[in-house]
Amino acid sequence: MEIYSHRRRLKVYTRPLARLIEQLQRLPGIGPKTAQRLALHILKRPDTEIQALAQSLIEAKQQVGLCQVCFHLSAEPVCEICRNPTRDNETICVVADSRDVIALEKTREYRGKYHVLGGVISPMDGIGPEQLSIQPLVQRVSGQQIKEVILAISPSVEGETTTLYVGRSLKLFTKVTRIAFGLPMGADLEYADEMTLARALEGRREL
Ligand code: ZN
Repeated sequence: MEIYSHRRRLKVYTRPLARLIEQLQRLPGIGPKTAQRLALHILKRPDTEIQALAQSLIEAKQQVGLCQVCFHLSAEPVCEICRNPTRDNETICVVADSRDVIALEKTREYRGKYHVLGGVISPMDGIGPEQLSIQPLVQRVSGQQIKEVILAISPSVEGETTTLYVGRSLKLFTKVTRIAFGLPMGADLEYADEMTLARALEGRREL
């Protein structure tokens, strides 16, 4: 796709600049204006700075994978949270996405382990339970001494389906609770402030 001005279909940007703007615009939250501003800013920066930026993009993509145990983002086979011996080994908090782990860590209220599902059940998008890391979670919980599993999945229709499904899969093995959201339906865990999240965690109830 080339970028033309709408009315006269003139080519506005020289080709490499158009390509850069096009790539930036693919990022979430970046519209055409922001993409243009970022691209022009990048052109003004020293070569070394832009090389460091490009290098960090490639290295992050190459080196960051998923933790074998909890499926959180990790550069090591097992992530720092799973390896941390001071954390409570008998509590697992189940979230949809790695972003939710980061949000919960920021509250500093939770000292257990996590399990990242990698999304929520959404038949409309072709995502069933087998596309998520639910089976590894069931294995983890059934094979270990786990006191409690806390389900912390954003309250949407899909989130609700996922919470109920995961809850049913785990109930045989351990106590399952869900966090109490003071959040409206459809709200995102990631965007809840730390106080609200901490309170939601505190006010969890048994499923
Ligand atoms: Zn982990």
